[in-house]
Amino acid sequence: MTSLAHFEAIAGAIALPGKAVINGKAVAARSGKTFDNITPRNGRVINSVAECDGVDIEDAVSAARASFDSGTWRKLSYGRKKRIMFALADLMEKHAETLAVLESLDVGKPISNALQGDIPGSIKTLRYYAEALDKIYGEVGPETNDRFSYAVHEPLGVIGIIVPWNFPLLMTMWKLAPAIAMGNSVVIKPAEQSPLTALFIGELALEAGFPPGVINVVPGFGTTTGKALALHNDVDMLAFTGSGNVGKLLMQYSGQSNLKRVSLELGGKSPQIVFADCPDLNAAAEHAAWGIFYNQGEVCTAGSRLLVDETIAEAFTESMLNVARKIVPGDPLEPRTQFGAMVSAEQMQTALRYIETAKREGAELRLGGKQALADSGGFYVEPTVFNAVAPDATLSREEVFGPVLAITKFKTPEEALRLANDTVYGLAAGLWTRDISLAHRAARELKAGLVWVNGWDSCDITMPFGGFKQSGFGRDRSLHALHKYADLKSVSITLR
Ligand code: NAD
Repeated sequence: MTSLAHFEAIAGAIALPGKAVINGKAVAARSGKTFDNITPRNGRVINSVAECDGVDIEDAVSAARASFDSGTWRKLSYGRKKRIMFALADLMEKHAETLAVLESLDVGKPISNALQGDIPGSIKTLRYYAEALDKIYGEVGPETNDRFSYAVHEPLGVIGIIVPWNFPLLMTMWKLAPAIAMGNSVVIKPAEQSPLTALFIGELALEAGFPPGVINVVPGFGTTTGKALALHNDVDMLAFTGSGNVGKLLMQYSGQSNLKRVSLELGGKSPQIVFADCPDLNAAAEHAAWGIFYNQGEVCTAGSRLLVDETIAEAFTESMLNVARKIVPGDPLEPRTQFGAMVSAEQMQTALRYIETAKREGAELRLGGKQALADSGGFYVEPTVFNAVAPDATLSREEVFGPVLAITKFKTPEEALRLANDTVYGLAAGLWTRDISLAHRAARELKAGLVWVNGWDSCDITMPFGGFKQSGFGRDRSLHALHKYADLKSVSITLR
């Protein structure tokens, strides 16, 4: 196994990317402004990043538009496009350790997660859509005597990609790869907390052979850079992952500007239901613990509500706690660490505030509840479990986006499903049962875009990902994602 010293050496040797990538060049913000990029590992500034604003967005959108209109990417042959996308995937593989270190430093995630999850997942996503790009078929209309009709998918044009900080590269790639596979040009606005991997990819894309202007990366803050992109009249679509509040703003910006299409992957308060006939209580306990504590709970599909049949509740909670007690905060760059730092001081304070609210509202604290490793200067919170959380308590209703689990008991399957659906969100839901009829009935009744039976997060790039209700609309992953980045044109030829 590689060591902490190995990853610290990589971190020390990399020139951390801090410039925007616009029209094929790494550039400073036109204003010359930069912002400090802080690592949650120890709270120190690691580099300065270009603080772009509306002027830089103007440059990036013009470059994307020019590349789209001239067809430098869109009109390339399938084979050529594929080769360039595969070249980028190969470069990412070559630099996988660097990318993992950048991601771990930037957001505090364990380096082992980045190496085994984020980076290979991003490479796989890119290859999946590279392989798919010559398998996008249109339709031939029903036959008539005097007319021949067909429908074709056409790229939209310029796609604005706005992403959060929890899986910075993976979320970017879930949008970038299908958007470019469809022939679009893109402007990416990474989260201000996590610009490094997107900027690195922007530069690798040029080395891979993407023509200038096809992939632009513009770092900066949401209310300046993000807003300017979202309001821009020459952006055809916004592909967004982030919070519900910003999602709602983006729909307003679309209405205030050019009615650009919007796709939203938002938050969740996902339930994991353990029925009394759970086929494997040990596996369920593992999935219940890791379902909330993976990536420090900063996961949109985190299983943040655990609903347990009252007849097994105490025994099951104890075995889940046995798993959770072994999950301890540690240095993200240490390869044995499984649970790292929260992304920022603000996010740590948010989690700690929710913990205090849960105590005040009468939930029973069974594990954790405090800040950890404060001497490091970093932003660590203990894995935290509350039992007996009332269905109307804040912790049952609001997304923490941190390592805090709420356990609630139920008496009947009907009650479990009612509790599971009693939320404004609808991203993911899981259930554990041997009863095949209950599994199918529950899968049908759960109002969520992703349902997992006897597992958690058990699907991959081949299946659509996205939410119901206020968890958003539009799907990432799978072949469905490609069509999000296209318009459908009907052509009818009258046969004379
Ligand atoms: P956020 O909404 O605050 O920020 C997301 C992005 O939007 C950032 O790049 C930010 O700079 C930008 N932004 C902020 N204000 C903006 C504005 N006015 N105009 C344009 N852009 C703006 O979210 P966050 O705190 O970074 O991420 C956490 C949220 O993301 C959680 O709610 C989480 O559930 C959600 N999330 C969802 C998924 C999913 O696939 N459904 C995945 C990851 C995270």
